Amino acid sequence: MIFKLRLIVAYIILLSIIIAVIPLLSNSQVKQTPTTNNSSPIIKVLGRDEQIFEIELEEFLVGVVAGEMPADFGFDALKAQAVAARSYICALLPEFGGKGKHGEAVICTNSACCQAYIYPEELAVKWGEHNAENLAKIKTAVSETAGEVLSFEGKPVSAPFFSTCGGHTENSEDVWQAAVPYLRSVACCWDKAAPRYKSEASFTIEEVAEKFNATTEAVEAMAVAEVSEGGRVKEVTVGDIKLSGTKIRSLLGLNSAAFSWAIAQNQVVFSVQGFGHGVGMCQHGAAGMAALGADYKSILKYYYTGIEIDKLY
Ligand SMILES: [Zn+2]
Ligand SMILES: [Zn+2]
Repeated sequence: MIFKLRLIVAYIILLSIIIAVIPLLSNSQVKQTPTTNNSSPIIKVLGRDEQIFEIELEEFLVGVVAGEMPADFGFDALKAQAVAARSYICALLPEFGGKGKHGEAVICTNSACCQAYIYPEELAVKWGEHNAENLAKIKTAVSETAGEVLSFEGKPVSAPFFSTCGGHTENSEDVWQAAVPYLRSVACCWDKAAPRYKSEASFTIEEVAEKFNATTEAVEAMAVAEVSEGGRVKEVTVGDIKLSGTKIRSLLGLNSAAFSWAIAQNQVVFSVQGFGHGVGMCQHGAAGMAALGADYKSILKYYYTGIEIDKLY
């Protein structure tokens, strides 16, 4: 009887040891082979001097958010920026159905091409004595939204953004070619205090004629042919040519294509509303919404019509 009891106790002890050891074994296996399903993907980035570097997406995002939005913006504006920037990158990643943008590298660090990125050593110079405080704020905005992207019909989407809309954002097809269902014109009244909400640019009639490759008479008689739903100039007739608002913006270096002009004493004075292309999230508008207490999800859902916020990893 005692022998049987000892045997049963021995079995129970053995069973307990097995039960205790199994999770340890499986844990050590998980640690050895991390998967991209539950952790940040590693991405290849085309950086300065055409050098490709590898970095964890979540770590890279800290430099992107720092490059794309002032650190003193409200916390939920920074979180909205982190999600929009992450979506842009994830939409390019092959594991999520994307094609990348720079061959072997998925993304570059040129703000005019992909997204701005500030290297850690440059951040320390940019922020000086506020480096630790700003870095902590942006790292938290990134980590509190880890893995979250904007999705439409179940896929991460490329989410454009810009500085200041000046009253309305734009339908995508009025600025670029394609009509994108979640990039619709919306009213925005939260960016009025932005530094480039309104601006002016003056040129002589001859300067404009030269840049437009038109005659001075044509410049004096030029007229708006079409305006977009968001209030930007779509097309201007200059003599027998037509120029798009975005073309004029780039030829003259205007802050946006939401402009009007007046001609007096050989000067063409352009009055410009806002800063940037106008499609997607207005960053100063997002900051204004955050200051009024909006959370990052409602900011994103306001500027990107009909999108969902999904946790991708
Ligand atoms: Zn690029
Ligand atoms: Zn705005």
